[in-house]
Amino acid sequence: MMKAALLIEPRKLVIEDVPTPEPGPKDVLIRIILGGICGSDHTLYHGGFGVPLPVIPGHEAIGRIEKIGEGVTGLAVGQRVTIQPNFSCGSCTLCLAGHKNICPSKVRLGVDKNGVFAEFAVVPADYVWPVPDNIEDEVAVFTEPLSVAVHAMKIWEPRKGERTLIFGAGIMGLLALQLAVLRCAEVSACDLAETRLAMAAQLGASRTIGPGDSFESYYNSFDVIYETSGAPAALEQVIRLAAPKGKIVILSLPGKDHPVPTDLIVRKELQIMGSLIYTNEFPESMDILKSGKIKTDLLNTGKLSLNELDNGLREFASPERMKMLVEIK
Ligand SMILES: [Zn+2]
Ligand SMILES: [Zn+2]
Repeated sequence: MMKAALLIEPRKLVIEDVPTPEPGPKDVLIRIILGGICGSDHTLYHGGFGVPLPVIPGHEAIGRIEKIGEGVTGLAVGQRVTIQPNFSCGSCTLCLAGHKNICPSKVRLGVDKNGVFAEFAVVPADYVWPVPDNIEDEVAVFTEPLSVAVHAMKIWEPRKGERTLIFGAGIMGLLALQLAVLRCAEVSACDLAETRLAMAAQLGASRTIGPGDSFESYYNSFDVIYETSGAPAALEQVIRLAAPKGKIVILSLPGKDHPVPTDLIVRKELQIMGSLIYTNEFPESMDILKSGKIKTDLLNTGKLSLNELDNGLREFASPERMKMLVEIK
């Protein structure tokens, strides 16, 4: 048996002993060391995905391989690993074209199948990445969220001289901000929380735009905008903030449709691009983390035990909270 956090109904998370899963062919069983709480865990907690419950949430984790299923090669028991937590079918036209992030049959760990907020999790071996020895667990656990930001930079890469705006300075915004700064872009950040803007300034934002500023004075000002907030009014705002010929990359999922000023898209010839999770960005993200070019220490705002996970999910939206880690072992 193993200890696991089970979401039995929206906002009802219990810690229970459940049978330890067995790795099937081409699977590995991972003993979870450290997990990270993500926005999608919060969405799931509030009943957001409409998936069958109970389910063990969680998809960001560092662990060690405990057991190897039949037919798995290239991995060893005891190896420290992280998990790429979206398992694509591998055979549809999108997967074959390299767009496995938008595979219609994709299975999400911790949403469609039991996740990492437990002592053990079973994962397909193809989605397990060994973690180099010189990266700490607390840093390596950022591989998954950083991959989302790295993918967004591939959808549109900011260049020197482009006025770039990170809309929303949550965890995703602050990772994207650092990547944009590394690309020599002049980067501004906006958010409604002063604490987050202070972090953005510390992480390289040359200007921060907060609740005390007039948004109107920044209309038509940005060549590249990354929308990371998911706020209902965000898309309308970024369309107004974009300069003529501006590029807007949306990495957030607002959860429903919101009206946008379509005339402005045409009049300014804007390009609006969606960016969903990642395809093959894990090795690159791991390299960036290993290089120390991205600061994660500021973003780590606390460690919880599995028993405290319920609280962590409840308080997820508080602006003082950035990445909350869950210590399992
Ligand atoms: Zn995540
Ligand atoms: Zn597919």
